[in-house]
Amino acid sequence: MPFSDLGLSPKVLEAVDAAGYTTPTPIQEQAIPHVMAGKDVLGIAQTGTGKTASFTLPMITRLERGRARARMPRTLILEPTRELAAQVEESFDKYGKNHKLSVALLIGGLSFGDQDAKLTKGVDVLIATPGRLLDHFERGRLLLTGIEVLVIDEADRMLDMGFIPDIERICKLIPPSRQTLFFSATMPPEIQRLVSQFLRDPVKIEV
Ligand code: AMP
Repeated sequence: MPFSDLGLSPKVLEAVDAAGYTTPTPIQEQAIPHVMAGKDVLGIAQTGTGKTASFTLPMITRLERGRARARMPRTLILEPTRELAAQVEESFDKYGKNHKLSVALLIGGLSFGDQDAKLTKGVDVLIATPGRLLDHFERGRLLLTGIEVLVIDEADRMLDMGFIPDIERICKLIPPSRQTLFFSATMPPEIQRLVSQFLRDPVKIEV
């Protein structure tokens, strides 16, 4: 199936073309139409399968409509480490190069004040590690009630790092009307429990 059959916008397809991709990977082909349709998705996939584009491309398409308000990000991507968060930011730069997206990174090691200034201006895509996100939230600098799409990436690594209680807290702070996209390379019982608790009738994709 070509990229042009997945429901992505023309501007996003241009960026895909510029990235030199000719064919969607299996997870992209299977996940993107469901993400575009607003479904919750459970993706069981390793890094290297193209899973990042399977959520970033439809998210960018969706963000073409509407506008972010101060302190109320429209989408949130949770990553276990700073490095992974920075890689996802690079993906948004690459695939969103024809868009004027406001992307903010909330991770340890970056200035709290700079991150806060960005939140004030309104953010389309917030990419965060759980601890730093809750830090901003607890200081009253961030509202999670405007989140339309929540991505939980590398869930099994979140488990290894002891982040599950933080993830549960964050999930409860975001209105249940959101779309949730959840990725994990493995499905231990603790992860299965999170999925049952926080995803609504998810489409399961295993690659
Ligand atoms: P990921 O699994 O998301 O970390 O992606 C792994 C690598 O595959 C990244 O370097 C992407 O740039 C690349 N990639 C993603 N989708 C495609 C595609 N459809 N065709 C070729 N390369 C891709």
